[in-house]
Amino acid sequence: MQYEPFSLDLTTPLSTSRGEIERREGFLIRVERDDVVGLGEATPLPGWTESIEECEAALTDWSEARQVEPAEMGETPAARHGIELAQVDADARAAGEPLATFLADGSPADSVPVNATVGDGSVESTAGATREAVESGYRAVKVKVGARDSDVDAARLRAAREAAGDGVELRADANGVWDVPTAERLLDVAADLDFAYVEQPLAADDLRGHAELRGRGVGIALDESVVSVGPDRVLTADAADILVCKPMALGGPRRTLDVARRAAARGVDVVVTTTIDAVVARVGAVHVAAALPGISACGLATGSVLSADLAPDPAPVEEGSIRVPTGPGLAGDAFAALRTKR
Ligand SMILES: [Mg+2]
Repeated sequence: MQYEPFSLDLTTPLSTSRGEIERREGFLIRVERDDVVGLGEATPLPGWTESIEECEAALTDWSEARQVEPAEMGETPAARHGIELAQVDADARAAGEPLATFLADGSPADSVPVNATVGDGSVESTAGATREAVESGYRAVKVKVGARDSDVDAARLRAAREAAGDGVELRADANGVWDVPTAERLLDVAADLDFAYVEQPLAADDLRGHAELRGRGVGIALDESVVSVGPDRVLTADAADILVCKPMALGGPRRTLDVARRAAARGVDVVVTTTIDAVVARVGAVHVAAALPGISACGLATGSVLSADLAPDPAPVEEGSIRVPTGPGLAGDAFAALRTKR
């Protein structure tokens, strides 16, 4: 196994729970098995995964000393994701199958619908960005809320619905900042406007609070909770209608599929998203989403946030969806240049 660092600037700074970031740093990973090179990517996002230093330490241990096995890398999910992605890419290539086919129980989807994301902004800019997304073909739009007064957010949700029209799936994401009265009020607004779900209305550790918010006519999706508390505790607490699953924060493609299967067994849906990754991890997540039966729109339209990438994107967003690459592994020969050490 080899790994190689990279750094990619963002088009605009991204605000995270740990402050603003201007670039994404990570590692491209190569695993060789019987002359087949598998590619993976580990791009840690502090607050969601380990730090870049912890990620590199785990990759070093694994590549040189083999002191840890991937199965034990639970504390460094980004590193574990990178290694597991490279392994399944190599295995799928050896089998001559696209990764989604290799991972799926049945036949995978040919394409994955994705949502546009409308960031915080005025009522007018929320309407404008929603309209623009729908005009470019998106059938699902997620509106970021929670940064403004709840009256303004309520007006923004109304403006988004008005701009989107009736046939478009709308979602909102509060990133855990509301208290219970605010959440109840905005959930009722979202339900009236036929939003599909509201993501993370309350703090990540408040599973009971989220469980009590279900059943108000709009779905409860949990994202931060899945990472910080863990998917199984979220499921056991009946805290969510939908789990937001980031393969990079859950520790790899197979782990994500396992979580999705456990969720489905309890009647809970899954949406696959990224941690703002480079193209190798994003394409990996597209295959994971395609391997899940009946997947709804996913948060995989994140490539445009990067001002440069490791390689041209073989799975771009077109009309609000991503066609799953059909070559062996991640994308046939699309990443040929990345497979040889530079
Ligand atoms: Mg979220």
